[in-house]
Amino acid sequence: MSVQKTCISPSCQKPFKIIDQEQDFCEHKQLSLPEECPRCRHQKRMALRNERNLYARMCNKCQSKMMSTIPTTAPYTVYCNKCYWENIG
Ligand SMILES: [Zn+2]
Ligand SMILES: [Zn+2]
Repeated sequence: MSVQKTCISPSCQKPFKIIDQEQDFCEHKQLSLPEECPRCRHQKRMALRNERNLYARMCNKCQSKMMSTIPTTAPYTVYCNKCYWENIG
């Protein structure tokens, strides 16, 4: 028997079903049932993954703020797009 739920995401609020397998899985892992539809959960996961790989850094040349995949703690010289292209050009 599947459970009918409504997505708690404000921009979605669509009804979705939790299938038997998912219920079993949650019970087994002692997790609460998801409150968001699979689509929103997927989007959230993607967003998290992106955030984890982006760091706020400053361009080593023009000091402008930028996002980089290189951690702030890494001892690399990073350039913003503009400086990067100027540098290799
Ligand atoms: Zn949703
Ligand atoms: Zn720059």
